[in-house]
Amino acid sequence: MKNATATILNIVKEPDKILRGIAKEIPTDSIPTAPIQRLIDHMKDTLAATPDGVGLAAPQIGKPLQIFIVSEEAENIDRMEKMLIEKKNEPLSPEAELPQKERWNYYVFINPAVKNVSKRKLGRSEGCLSVPGKFGEVRRHEKITVEAYDENGKKFTRGAARFFARVLQHELDHLQGTLFIDKAEKIFKSDNNGKKESRD
Ligand SMILES: [Zn+2]
Repeated sequence: MKNATATILNIVKEPDKILRGIAKEIPTDSIPTAPIQRLIDHMKDTLAATPDGVGLAAPQIGKPLQIFIVSEEAENIDRMEKMLIEKKNEPLSPEAELPQKERWNYYVFINPAVKNVSKRKLGRSEGCLSVPGKFGEVRRHEKITVEAYDENGKKFTRGAARFFARVLQHELDHLQGTLFIDKAEKIFKSDNNGKKESRD
C-alpha cells in the first residue's frame, strides 16, 4: 500500500564526503525512539521511490549512522535467477507473479557485524544510487552471515547467499565509507537505454 505521507529524502551522491565517513553505532536503547523510527520510515520511503534500488544505507541520506535497509526484492532476484537456471528450457512469464514495487518489505539492519563469509567469491556487475550512471564488476563473497538489530531493537542473525549476500556486502561497505567503485575491477558507464541493473 502506498504511504500517503511518504518522505522522500535526497540521496547523497559521490564525491560527497559523507559517503566516505565511518558510520556511528546506534545505542540499542535508542532504536525504539521517534528519531530513529522516523529515519527508518524515511529510508524505506526513499528506497521505494527509486526505480531500481534494492538497498539503502543511512550515510546515503546524509546520516552517518550504522543502519541500512534491504528490499525483499533482492531475495526475489535470487529466486528468479534460480528459477531461470532450473527451468531454462521452459517459457517464463514471471511478471504476473511479481508484487508491485511499493509492496516490497524492507529488512532493517542496525549495528551490523559480519560473523562469517564464504571463501568463494563471485563476480557480478553492480551499481549504486550514490554513484549514478556507473556500473562495475565487483567480486563479493558468495555467502555471508550478519548479526544485527532489527527496527524493534531485537538482535537477529541472518545468513544470505548470492545476490542478497552481495547487497549486504555493498551496504556494509557504505557504513565503512567504501563505495563499489573502490573495489570494481572494471567500471563502465551505463547508457540510458541499456539493460536495467539493480542498485543499492
Ligand atoms: Zn550503494
